[in-house]
Amino acid sequence: MISHRLGTVVVVGVAIILPILGSGPAALAGVGGPIFVAAKPGAAAVRAVPARDGRCLPGARTLSRFGSHLYPDTGNGGYTSLHTDVHLVYDATADRFLPGNHVDLTEHAAECLTSFSLDFERKSLANSAAGPDMRVNSVTVNGHPARFGFVQPTYPGDPRGQNDPNPMAHEASQLNPVGGPGHNPLPPACSPELPSTDPALQNSQNGQQCPANKLVITPVSPITAGSMFTVDVDYTGRPGVHTDGDGTTEGWFRSSKPAGDGGFVTTEPVGTEDWMPLNDFPSAKPTYDFYDTVNAGKTVLANGTLASVRHNPPDARFPAGSVTWHWHSPAPVASYLVEDSVGSYDLTMRTADRGVRYYEALAGALSPAQKRQDLVIMNQQEDISDFQSLFNGTFPFTSDGVVVGIPSASFDEELQTMIMFSGGQINLDVLYHENMHQWWGDNVSESSYNLTFFKEGLATFGEYLFAARTAEAAAGGPHSMAGQRAFDRSLIKQFNSSYASKGSFWTAAPSNPTPFGLFAGDPTYTRPGVAYIALRQILGQANFVRALRQLQRDHRGASVTEPQLEAAFHRWLPVRSAACGARLDQFFSQWFDTAFPAGGLAHRPQVTGPGLAGPGFYGQGGCARLR
Ligand SMILES: [Zn+2]
Repeated sequence: MISHRLGTVVVVGVAIILPILGSGPAALAGVGGPIFVAAKPGAAAVRAVPARDGRCLPGARTLSRFGSHLYPDTGNGGYTSLHTDVHLVYDATADRFLPGNHVDLTEHAAECLTSFSLDFERKSLANSAAGPDMRVNSVTVNGHPARFGFVQPTYPGDPRGQNDPNPMAHEASQLNPVGGPGHNPLPPACSPELPSTDPALQNSQNGQQCPANKLVITPVSPITAGSMFTVDVDYTGRPGVHTDGDGTTEGWFRSSKPAGDGGFVTTEPVGTEDWMPLNDFPSAKPTYDFYDTVNAGKTVLANGTLASVRHNPPDARFPAGSVTWHWHSPAPVASYLVEDSVGSYDLTMRTADRGVRYYEALAGALSPAQKRQDLVIMNQQEDISDFQSLFNGTFPFTSDGVVVGIPSASFDEELQTMIMFSGGQINLDVLYHENMHQWWGDNVSESSYNLTFFKEGLATFGEYLFAARTAEAAAGGPHSMAGQRAFDRSLIKQFNSSYASKGSFWTAAPSNPTPFGLFAGDPTYTRPGVAYIALRQILGQANFVRALRQLQRDHRGASVTEPQLEAAFHRWLPVRSAACGARLDQFFSQWFDTAFPAGGLAHRPQVTGPGLAGPGFYGQGGCARLR
């Protein structure tokens, strides 16, 4: 029930239906940036020469490592992101952020900073039609006006510093080194914005100059190491979508059904910076409050739980009145999982076991028949969460939700506690996938883009568990021996069918994708997905579940590296001898890190063969606990 009292909607825990109710100064900031020493690929950039005053330096303008070719322009160092207050003032009819639109970021300085940066694609050169066209009007740091400007990214670890005058230090590429028409031998500074998804064009933009999307902010005086500071960025204009390294778009999709409906947000991997300045890297995870003011009658959807809805009288910006929605996420949210959509939605909420709130939002313009069809699937989210909890442990957030919007965005996405389905339709298998992400990707995030396979593999494993659950139900249910055998048989069948794959199935290492291949099927989804089936077989169901739950406990609200991921499975290996540990290392190296020649058969992981059901699984040494 919702009661409208004093202009505020008070949300109570039963089923409810809500009525549908630029760029700044051109001067570059931070000239005289820090000096980096280039290390071998994969090693972290090392700061070598201190600034003249010996203490205070500009913050690093990337969180990527030297040699990275996956969105190396994103992320910002020298501070950690603690909390963000989003204050959108959005006219849905005009698709514009109006005066008063701003974000307040609370950061913790890890070092003394003369300047620091954020990521913000305020204007897209690659996509003038649907890309953003915004302007930063002012920036304050701790309440004091600060200088700001936009600069190009520089490849991580450039020994000539972040303001390297060499144009080759600021070029885009799928690859390291850049190559391209100029045969650039340096690593890329950003990922290219591809004009299409045609594989033949994937290297067509290598060597292009990177856009100046680094917002460098110089406070009046340096920020002391160890201090908390606040950054207020005031900006207006039209949000939009980012054209990324595989030719798809993500960010703020215009929703035009009905005309002037609003904006629909799906953002992986980097599109959040197309509607809001932020530290745009998956391991940067501030908590959030959203206080969004939109046209009267519009609904705002964001992460976490709905705290209040306040109706405002008409003013110069909203002559027909406006409404301010406050959503609160006490859990940290990774850069690509920030939800903040606006439109005409039927929004419902109900409180389930353990107080978890389930939100359902359906685009108001969908036909009644389509809504009924979508709701049949949406209503299964709590049951799906309960089932997935058997593996992952307790649901990690205070709320969960599903949104079905109309724009045909490039994909459906696991935005934290608010799973986004585009095109007006929802699919049950995809809901299992996206809901699995609430644990994997959302609560425990990847520490960098090349670990996307870690969470996509677990989400794909979530689909395999759904197929196994279906087989189990048909064979007598989870409490029957026949049902349990059918569950195992389904997983083994899935493994064996994928393991038999030939062609190019094994030719890309999951942990070393290009931007073009990051979301392109087998190496990111199927191969790691069936690797988790193998891990379940190796560890046994009980130990496998213990490993998953330990990862959830140890890295909750944060992110995980590949060694940390693998260490959790090592810990729960039934036989913890040195030989068995070495064999598990070999398993990870073959399944996650190796690019095999085409064709399959001998050119695929051998440590697992001849198949999960076979007696030779995982070798003859007895490391596995066969069931
Ligand atoms: Zn996924």
